[in-house]
Amino acid sequence: MNRNNMDALSVCGTFSRDARAWGFPKGTSALYGKGAFVWLNDNKPYLDWVCGLGSNILGYSNNAFDHYVMMNMRRGSGFSIGASLEIETAEKLVNVLGRRVNGWSPNSLMVRWGLSGTDATSMAIRLARAVTGKKHIYIIDGGYHGWADWSVSYTYPALGVIPEESGYIHSLPKDKDIRSYNVRDAAAIIVEQSVTDPNPAFYTNLRSLCDQNGVMLIMDEVVTGFRYAAGGACEKYGIQPDLCCYGKALGNGIPVSALVGHKDYMEWFRKTDPVFCSSTGWGNQVSMAAANAVLDTIDDKFIRRIESVGEQFIKGLGRAGLNVIGHPQRSLILFDSDIKKAFFINEMRNKGILVNRPNFINGAHTMEHVERTVEAAEHTMNLWLDMSDEERLRETDGKIPFTLFKNR
Ligand code: PMP
Repeated sequence: MNRNNMDALSVCGTFSRDARAWGFPKGTSALYGKGAFVWLNDNKPYLDWVCGLGSNILGYSNNAFDHYVMMNMRRGSGFSIGASLEIETAEKLVNVLGRRVNGWSPNSLMVRWGLSGTDATSMAIRLARAVTGKKHIYIIDGGYHGWADWSVSYTYPALGVIPEESGYIHSLPKDKDIRSYNVRDAAAIIVEQSVTDPNPAFYTNLRSLCDQNGVMLIMDEVVTGFRYAAGGACEKYGIQPDLCCYGKALGNGIPVSALVGHKDYMEWFRKTDPVFCSSTGWGNQVSMAAANAVLDTIDDKFIRRIESVGEQFIKGLGRAGLNVIGHPQRSLILFDSDIKKAFFINEMRNKGILVNRPNFINGAHTMEHVERTVEAAEHTMNLWLDMSDEERLRETDGKIPFTLFKNR
């Protein structure tokens, strides 16, 4: 197979993984990964700080994880009746979240498994509309919640989505006093804890706004879950959600997602006339094994470890002259121009390092990896400073990353 010609055969499954989103040559693809490294189709290893868009929390091809997933895969997958492992894994999940999320307890919760973050957020939206009997959904600061019609309808031009959908989705700015919003017609407000810390009163005010207006509060923890803390952003900020959506890190790169909420709501999925959400791959043995293995590994000690590596990552890149914001486990490099971004990402790649605007830490990253990255970043920034504007333009010609997620 000519791997350089794969663009002709397959549209990359994820926009952010597309070589164009990196500004890399057409046909750039990944062959395999081990620990903190991924081998691209030039057969060279790259130190990877993007961690499969935040999904790879343990490191690639982690021995204990792989062993557990493969052991379960060998027992067959996709049975004709729900897998026992669905129940076992749900029990583990509610035990973690029930103890760590404000207002939740293990006995009050139920889980609905999915494969993608979009599965979880879309189930949450459908459930909220069914429970409240209302149609409108509020998102915060135009946040991204997946590729479903309801979610992308407000993005221009939302090709292929019925325009009327956008009449039901509204974006609220986070910086205003949230208590002043009129959300009486809303079924739900869905929020992702963004890269930077919230105003201290934000979540308390949001909770009262929801309570006063009969609105469900959905936390989108697809990125933050099992990363900001074992109990996600809800644990870190003491948030009291009605429903929570998890994905990404929950499967360490294997597709699995979950919607978790109080039994009173979740029971709507199995009424005689249920809220209809169902899919052949949901709850399959491999995904369940992956979630199970991740849940066995993520604890406070694990989070502290990735946090301390991430702190050094942010500090070091700052010393190299980059503007880095966010959390140790999930940070964002702010570039003042697309040209600088293109130069930095491509030059770091030349040095065997994959960094992008959003970066993440996984359990395989070490302080040595940080040191190597900071040295490379310092060298890259010095090169940049020594170049004229014409040289910068020439150097980045055809390498400007194609950006879809402008606010991420
Ligand atoms: N919510 C958030 C906050 C996300 O960042 C994403 C994807 N990056 C999703 C939902 C959708 O997840 P998926 O791509 O797995 O469908």
